[in-house]
Amino acid sequence: MKEQLRILAQLQELDGKIQKLREEIAAVPEDILTLREVISQAERSLEEMREKQEGLAKERRHKERELSTKEDSLSKYQSQLYEVKTNKEYSAIMVEIDSLKQENSELEDETLGLMERGDELGGLIKKKEEELRVERERLTGEEEKNRERVVGLEENRRVVEREREELAKKVDGSLLSSYERILRGKGGLALVPVRDDACQGCFMELPPQTINEIMKGDKIIYCERCSRILYWEEKEE
Ligand SMILES: [Zn+2]
Repeated sequence: MKEQLRILAQLQELDGKIQKLREEIAAVPEDILTLREVISQAERSLEEMREKQEGLAKERRHKERELSTKEDSLSKYQSQLYEVKTNKEYSAIMVEIDSLKQENSELEDETLGLMERGDELGGLIKKKEEELRVERERLTGEEEKNRERVVGLEENRRVVEREREELAKKVDGSLLSSYERILRGKGGLALVPVRDDACQGCFMELPPQTINEIMKGDKIIYCERCSRILYWEEKEE
């Protein structure tokens, strides 16, 4: 039985490796998903910026049209100045002209302001687009790297699984199925050593009598609390 336990300990080591490889393989897409989330967030904010820029341009065109209409009115008033007969008429037109000039100068300022904000936003959009381009390239690179990594990890897993398969043949059938049942039920840990007089699966302290039996290794001893198989590690000198 001692020899069986020794093989089982090797088997547990391999099963641990396989589990770790499986976890690593599963974790790979998560890294990619994080990067994809970063990119789609950047895309959303870029879209918002473009919409804002479009809004600014629309507003500017609107003001420009208003300005051009008012400039037409202004030149109409200005030509009327030559045809007036009375001082009263003249003053009335001058009031209109002054007020239009004031309004037009405000419109010009507003148009200029909108243009400046549009340019500023355009610069930010360019910067963001460049950032996004870099992120997309990084994603492509990461995806490629991860594909290679997964291929490597899976190859590794197959090697360990083959090794495990060979080793499992050396274990007695009923012991193997009991080991595998515990392995599935106990998070991939079925066989645990005794250290500091305690089960290393659940850390319950074991009575000396049990420890003696485990040291002898004549039969399979299960932990009373976590049901894992207990074994005594031979200290290698
Ligand atoms: Zn235990």
